[in-house]
Amino acid sequence: MIDYTNILENEYTLDPDNWDDIERMGVEMVKDMISYLRNIRKEPSWRPISDSAKKDLHKPIPTTPQPLRTIYNDYVESILPYPTGNIHPKFWAWADGTGSVVAMLADMLASGLNPNVCAGEHSSMYVEQQVIDWLKEMMGFPATSSGILLSGGAMSNLTALIIARNSFDKSIRKKGINSKHGLMTIYTSEEAHSCIEKAADVMGLGLESVIKIPVEANYQINISILKEQIHKDKANGLLPFCIVGNVGTVNTGAIDPIDELLLIAKEESMWLHIDGAFGAFAKLVPEYSKQLNVLSEVDSITFDLHKWMYLPFGIGCLLVKNKELHKDSFAIPVEYLFKHERGLASGPDIISDYGIEMSRGFKSLSVWFCLQTYGINKLKLLIRQNVAQAFYLQNLIEKETQLELLAHVSINVVCFRFNPQIPNIEAKLNEINKEIVMKLQESGDATPSYTMLKGIYTIRVAIINHRSRKEDFDSFITSIIKIGNELIGF
Ligand SMILES: *Cc1c(COP(=O)(O)O)cnc(C)c1O
Repeated sequence: MIDYTNILENEYTLDPDNWDDIERMGVEMVKDMISYLRNIRKEPSWRPISDSAKKDLHKPIPTTPQPLRTIYNDYVESILPYPTGNIHPKFWAWADGTGSVVAMLADMLASGLNPNVCAGEHSSMYVEQQVIDWLKEMMGFPATSSGILLSGGAMSNLTALIIARNSFDKSIRKKGINSKHGLMTIYTSEEAHSCIEKAADVMGLGLESVIKIPVEANYQINISILKEQIHKDKANGLLPFCIVGNVGTVNTGAIDPIDELLLIAKEESMWLHIDGAFGAFAKLVPEYSKQLNVLSEVDSITFDLHKWMYLPFGIGCLLVKNKELHKDSFAIPVEYLFKHERGLASGPDIISDYGIEMSRGFKSLSVWFCLQTYGINKLKLLIRQNVAQAFYLQNLIEKETQLELLAHVSINVVCFRFNPQIPNIEAKLNEINKEIVMKLQESGDATPSYTMLKGIYTIRVAIINHRSRKEDFDSFITSIIKIGNELIGF
């Protein structure tokens, strides 16, 4: 028998010896962070990480306690000054949302309460339900549909495709894809996000099971090629089971003709999933609501609250029309989770029955706080403002003879390049534009991102930023033209 008396007598805990000290520290942290966000416009949009900061972030494993004050000082010196910058007004890269002060405070409250939002009769389960109900309403999904908050779009798309697969053939869940006698195929445009292929890979279907359909000049999926391909593949014994439509492609923000995809899916008895990771929220903007009303008719939809809902990272959502199918794809009844009539083990549906993850954090609290504090109307207005800014930027580009718009602006993504149109410049333009992007980022003046469109290096601006102002786009264009002309020696 081991003698544990000593350890038992000591009553160790992670709670502080002095609660007043930690309270002061907490107040200071909150004040510092609010002041940082308040003054974020004065910060550079990005700065290179200093050598000393990198060194500071490469230390041996801490074995003994150090004062919180010391660790916090390290945070202030080595972490705080070097963020991605997506909280900055002049950040328009990839599809990174800004977050908000209210969300930050809500995250602290969520972490303090630290519930496991997986199962049981406790408040966070109802917050989650409430938030999902609001999101269903926003997307026009019926109350009978199901939904789950996930870590993001990639996880949400994977979850949706698993349900689509199982709805095609219920035996797969038991027997695996080995039970199939043909190749199950997914159809989406060439412009779809790579996470669709990754999902097919993870599901054991293989990367090649994703058939990428060419796009039109405006980067929408080519409907007639899609139809032909499905017919051809069926004739060849393949098993087309799912179409993934895009609302806001990652490169250019293109919106596929969802009504036409819906007709094809119905005709061919296929699942229609929509990847609207950032773009789905365009549905809330009057100019798009008619076109996107059809979203209420699809089988499932992905959208990220951490993108165009201005929430912090780690919150995506999946909505599924057929709740039974959704649950049948993930529920595995186990003794240690079965429901009781009363007590903590009663309560709403077990959330892990609707996805892959088991334990879940309280990310819905920041959604709950933000949707109420700001109100849907304000959020709609901000999304619409971003759309207006995209078209404003397009206009600025079209007015400049040295700039060339490279893709149709659909919602909030603007693709263009510096092109002074002087002799023998074409071959150098990719290099010049890449240099412009790097110089801009390094100067801390603005953070656009980039992509390749038909072999052309493209400066890409995706506006999902509630802090951006009109003047930010004016000065952005001025900077690009200045850097471009310096590079070509003018
Ligand atoms: C961002 C994005 C994804 C991936 O979502 P994560 O939240 O990063 O996992 C998928 N599809 C599109 C269109 C996206 O923009």
